[in-house]
Amino acid sequence: MNGTTHAVFGIAALAGTALVTGADPPAYVYPAAVVAAWLPDVDNPRSTLGNGLSRSKNPILNVLSRPLSWALRTTSFVLVRTVGHRTLTHSILGALLFALAVYLSLDGFPNLTLALVAGYASHVFADALNTRGVPLLWPLGRPFRLLPGGIRSGGAVEVAVALGALMVALYAILQLTPSLRALLGLL
Ligand SMILES: [Zn+2]
Repeated sequence: MNGTTHAVFGIAALAGTALVTGADPPAYVYPAAVVAAWLPDVDNPRSTLGNGLSRSKNPILNVLSRPLSWALRTTSFVLVRTVGHRTLTHSILGALLFALAVYLSLDGFPNLTLALVAGYASHVFADALNTRGVPLLWPLGRPFRLLPGGIRSGGAVEVAVALGALMVALYAILQLTPSLRALLGLL
């Protein structure tokens, strides 16, 4: 799944979870869900985060992001050299370790915690839909696929799946935001 699909899944996961659990996440935590939805691919040096955000064309942004860029590249390098791509970060163990780290470091920010954990989990779910599947029980077991055959990355089906997730996200956000419904005349 590409970065855009993961971003849409991250937003849908946060809005959907909020709707089901009765949480009311403020708008500013949605970008956190998107970043968390990209995070598992930090183990791929060619991913958005794994290459240290080097695609930024803004020189000021580049200087400001350099420490973060360095940290991301180092994490990427260490992961790919130790466990490899699509292993720890795409497993239940990885998701639990991430959730635990977020929970312990963001005590008192339940909405941000929800956004990060929902975003991260959405990545593993989305990758479980595609052809390669994900090693949910890593370091044990084989890769797990949610669909027989799976969805090919970058194909037309991925676009359709991303649009489906976008619909879920929009529906959930509209349900969560009465003022937005009123604005659109959907009361
Ligand atoms: Zn992935």
